[in-house]
Amino acid sequence: MGTQRLQDKTALVTGGSRGIGRAIAERLAADGALVVLTYASDETAAREVVERIGKDGGRALALRAGLGRHGDAAHLWEAFDARVVEHAPGGGVDIIVNNAGIARSADLPALTEEGFDEVFAVNVRAPFFIVQEGLKRLRDGGRIINVSSGAAHLAMPEAIAYGATKSALDNFTLNLAKSLGPRGITANSVAPGIIDTDVNAGWLRGNAQAEAHAASLAALGRVGQPHDVADVVAFLASHDARWVTGRVIDATGGSGL
Ligand code: NAP
Repeated sequence: MGTQRLQDKTALVTGGSRGIGRAIAERLAADGALVVLTYASDETAAREVVERIGKDGGRALALRAGLGRHGDAAHLWEAFDARVVEHAPGGGVDIIVNNAGIARSADLPALTEEGFDEVFAVNVRAPFFIVQEGLKRLRDGGRIINVSSGAAHLAMPEAIAYGATKSALDNFTLNLAKSLGPRGITANSVAPGIIDTDVNAGWLRGNAQAEAHAASLAALGRVGQPHDVADVVAFLASHDARWVTGRVIDATGGSGL
């Protein structure tokens, strides 16, 4: 177990069943938080994370909460309220991690309106309304952490709408930090580079050449792992990060330096 620096805290981690979100859920639980993780459809993966956390002495529960449709944020929080009281009488939340996101590759000529709407609905609209609804539950001194991307700050024409979603998310972070500062609530983005998750499995895993290229993009000379990002999120979630707000914290291993 970790240092238990998040004891008595409740954290929501969207997309906590796989990849970066799973690592965040496990790390926050190791730090003592009750973790409510959400997933879209892969119930087996979500159950596995909850069991893993339990075996490691932590506390977690999983909620099925597909994001990207109108009303999804409200449904998520209704389910959250119903389930969390079993574990934390009084309910409420201290840490909101907007991690769930989708990557869609399309350059401008290939981009469709449907594809554009889909990626914005999951990566931008969902975090906006999760926070809007969540503010009714978020305690003073709380934390909002948005999982952005290094792609927000560089040209990647082959995923032109994806980059725009993450830029939008970073601007949301700024506005949250300004408006919620008086309540002692911080809001920050974390921007990963290339991380070894299912999103990149198709082109990265088992392809030594692709892996070597991806590793060469980072100053630290390797492909990032989910826990490389989760540890940064854990810092931002902790009391140690109380004076950091409105920022995009780079977790790309020094990509594009
Ligand atoms: P991942 O391995 O594909 O995992 C995605 C998670 O989000 C899963 O738990 C999934 O649930 C959930 N999810 C996906 N679509 C959803 C939807 N429509 N509604 C609700 N939940 C949904 O992704 P990842 O690579 O860890 O990425 C996590 C975040 O990091 C994303 O915001 C991504 O943009 C960002 N990021 C990733 C990288 C990278 O290289 N991997 C780089 C920069 C930024 P199910 O298991 O049920 O599908």
